[in-house]
Amino acid sequence: MSTPAVVLQQVSRVHGSGATRVQALTDVSLQVGAGELVAVMGPSGSGKSTLLNLAGGLDRPTGGTVLIGGVDTTSLSQGRLAQLRRRQVGFVFQDLNLIPSLTAAENVALPLELDGLGVRAAREQAVASLDDVGLADLADRFPEHMSGGQQQRVAIARALVGPRRVVLADEPTGALDSQTGEAVLQVLRARCDAGAAGLLVTHEARHAAWADRVVFLRDGVVVDTTGTPPTPESLLDPAQAG
Ligand code: ADP
Ligand code: MG
Repeated sequence: MSTPAVVLQQVSRVHGSGATRVQALTDVSLQVGAGELVAVMGPSGSGKSTLLNLAGGLDRPTGGTVLIGGVDTTSLSQGRLAQLRRRQVGFVFQDLNLIPSLTAAENVALPLELDGLGVRAAREQAVASLDDVGLADLADRFPEHMSGGQQQRVAIARALVGPRRVVLADEPTGALDSQTGEAVLQVLRARCDAGAAGLLVTHEARHAAWADRVVFLRDGVVVDTTGTPPTPESLLDPAQAG
């Protein structure tokens, strides 16, 4: 079997030092293979975002090893790590940050063009990515002429454009109405079914139900993993999750 797309081996991350030292993760081991979507759950401050940032190469561990696409990120220069991230990893965050003076397709094509792809090829991949989120018809529309939900889907299309092997989403549905939220999860699921490895931070059971398995964090430690979607009773109180 080939190396899973994301591998965390005994990963620890300490933020700060001295009096402000925080051990955000301790000895976390996790593998996410191609085609797999893994949900990450746990209370606020349990290390979910830290885990996601490490898995995507936005941050480096203070202990242990992180492999992305089989590449050990610990030994990479900043520049190489940034390149790996741009080419292999799609991040879906809550904020939209669409550029108002660019059409939907231009917004989505932008990261590809910044990475050196030609305008035509970038446009083709951008329209394909917009098609994935059901917006191919609106490719030439400007953000101000789209609804909030449509803008969010353009942002998803931009985050996931091109042949990315790893897709990461940190509470992507937080600011969305439930219908748009479901659409986002559908796109994530489809990308994983198409061969990407996915990690989804969420505190909602019905969102985690889209995943193949769930990893529960508490105080920076994996306390449980389950191969089946969670039942409402097995979940933490959403009011204290974050
Ligand atoms: P979650 O996403 O589960 O809420 P985080 O990964 O954001 O948890 O944070 C885990 C712990 O690490 C928390 O105690 C948080 O305050 C701390 N932390 C996260 N990022 C930083 C940082 N850049 N500097 C200092 N402490 C941080
Ligand atoms: Mg977080």
